[in-house]
Amino acid sequence: MNDEPGDSPALPELIAAAAGVLRDSQCLVVLTGAGISKESGIPTFRDALDGLWARYDPQMLATALAFMQDPKLVWDWYQYRRTLLAGAQPNPGHTAIAALQDLLPQVVVVTQNIDGLHHLAGSRDVITLHGDIRRSKCFYNCQGDPTYIDVEQLEWDPEAGPPSCPHCGRWVRPDVVWFGEMLPQAALARARELSEAADVMLVVGTSGVVQPAAGLPAVAKQHGAAVIEVNPEHSLITSFADYHLHGPSGVILPQVVDILRAEHPDA
Ligand code: NAD
Repeated sequence: MNDEPGDSPALPELIAAAAGVLRDSQCLVVLTGAGISKESGIPTFRDALDGLWARYDPQMLATALAFMQDPKLVWDWYQYRRTLLAGAQPNPGHTAIAALQDLLPQVVVVTQNIDGLHHLAGSRDVITLHGDIRRSKCFYNCQGDPTYIDVEQLEWDPEAGPPSCPHCGRWVRPDVVWFGEMLPQAALARARELSEAADVMLVVGTSGVVQPAAGLPAVAKQHGAAVIEVNPEHSLITSFADYHLHGPSGVILPQVVDILRAEHPDA
């Protein structure tokens, strides 16, 4: 029941139907991407290329090779993205996802985002597949994987590039998973297991192009889960989603939660 042209139901009916599916869920996995944080003022990858950065391709900047070739360029791009994030707060979409914890037996958030906003919104069980932009680590993980470095404690000349690791003297890098790198294996394994076990997967604000996270909704569907997508655009998930709730997550998700809360006024 997605929103292909023709005789598709109106959005309020779709929202009510999706809430009905969620009401019966025993194991809900919520997969999120950059779109859920857009209403917190954080640009998606495609949007984050204004001004100075307009001539760069993020897929070319977000790689270990790019960092090795030009550490200052890549470090500066992440510093720029950190400034975009400074002060960002969870929006009603993040808050609605956190509220689901008190309405359903099991809710696990699997996020591709590196902005930490699900934690800030109060979600308790969050699997971060792509790291956290606020953290930094030794490029070589010289003290074990990961070797986190608190750059606030370091003194260095930003004009010269990234700081040096206090242990080995080599580069410090952002703690994010770059294109071509392995995801944290324990996190990915748990996300896969949960996708197989889920009876509902809620997919919010992801274009479905970045693997392996993009493959999780298909895994859930193959194992019998209902797939509910929230996105103002069509994505690679839309064609097999059971429900496509067409609109911004900060508008749609609070409506879903309101319906569920009306049935559990104490939650
Ligand atoms: P993407 O940029 O490829 O796609 C974003 C999706 O969100 C699109 O389908 C878009 O239609 C949808 N969208 C836009 N506004 C929305 C809204 N208000 N509500 C719901 N959906 C909305 O993002 P992706 O699929 O997450 O993949 C890009 C990669 O970039 C990921 O690996 C992610 O780690 C990284 N990234 C993360 C952040 C962040 O942490 N906030 C920001 C930019 C990029």
